[in-house]
Amino acid sequence: MTENCTEKITITCPICKFNHTYSIEITKSIIFYHMTPGMDTSPKFISMTRVFTCPTERTNFQAIIKLIEGFGEKIEGVEVQ
Ligand SMILES: [Zn+2]
Repeated sequence: MTENCTEKITITCPICKFNHTYSIEITKSIIFYHMTPGMDTSPKFISMTRVFTCPTERTNFQAIIKLIEGFGEKIEGVEVQ
């Protein structure tokens, strides 16, 4: 079972030094765990590198985006729109 959600992120552009806002589409799988005592249910912070395009200079750059993976979720993919 997967679920898609769209988020807006703001990145400080390394090319023109302004902030740009991008929409990213995140695909998550939902995992059903058998709960056991002492299980770590805290969210995980994950980092991914993606290519973005500076709308001013029309140049691509790479940036690291940070996402939170909640308990019972697995991030399968991130598309920059
Ligand atoms: Zn820029």
